[in-house]
Amino acid sequence: MSGKLYLVATPIGNLGDISFRAAKTLEEVDFIAAEDTRVTVKLLNHLGLKKQLVSYYQHNQSGSGQRILSRLLAGESCALVSDAGMPAISDPGEDMVRLCAENGVETVIVPGPCAAVSALALSALPTGRFTFEGFLSVSKKSRAEHLESLKNEKRTMIFYEAPHKLVNTLRDMLSVFGDRDISICRELTKLHEQVLRTTLSEALETYTIEPPKGEFVLVIAGASEDNSPSLSLEEAAAAAIQLHKSGISLKDAARSVSQSTGYAKNAVYSAALSMEKES
Ligand code: SAM
Repeated sequence: MSGKLYLVATPIGNLGDISFRAAKTLEEVDFIAAEDTRVTVKLLNHLGLKKQLVSYYQHNQSGSGQRILSRLLAGESCALVSDAGMPAISDPGEDMVRLCAENGVETVIVPGPCAAVSALALSALPTGRFTFEGFLSVSKKSRAEHLESLKNEKRTMIFYEAPHKLVNTLRDMLSVFGDRDISICRELTKLHEQVLRTTLSEALETYTIEPPKGEFVLVIAGASEDNSPSLSLEEAAAAAIQLHKSGISLKDAARSVSQSTGYAKNAVYSAALSMEKES
């Protein structure tokens, strides 16, 4: 009989968040498949455990996945862990679960921390219906297509983002979605945990001035129910000015804000021009 694959969630910062069942599973399995064995060794040391570790990460997952599968089929049990949080959610693991399903190997969940759900719960935005969007692509074209496809999404949206890409991402979001409420959840469960409940334009301003540090989840309000512009013309003009300050021409900024708000491009442009003159 084949062994089982245990998907074990691990802390996203605070090691105290490891569950009893996760620790017991890590102790009892025959071996652990880890995204980064150095990170997992720290967790095992914290738990006072020693266990055989094999590496399973994005760039070796096809070969390593087959080796793990062979061991499972031979009757061994394996715990799959990622660097932090729930394996298989924007993490290696999705393929391993599919491979097990295709080969009749039972997969067992040992649930625990997940950055996306933790951020959603803290966001103060509607949680009844939401969509998880993971990381935006680095390719300009696919990120533009991804954001464009979400322009009319009414559910709350959750994104993962790396700090060095945050400002670009906020800028792209502001130009496609228009100004929206956003909760920026940073360093959850760690010393510098912070939830910034603000708007896209204010967030862009904040992080353009002060470079972001740490790990971030972005939780963004969905599109409003009716199709009328959700912003006043003044607010739309302010959003265009904010985009302009982050490095694009005022004309282009007015065009993207007009697309996301429904105001005519010229109306946004003139309002932004007069606002700039007044300030
Ligand atoms: N599978 C993990 C999960 O769902 O919890 C996420 C893994 S993904 C490779 C890593 C991303 O999760 C980070 O870039 C960040 O966006 C988010 N993340 C992980 N830990 C976090 C934390 N403590 N605070 C905020 N975001 C975090």
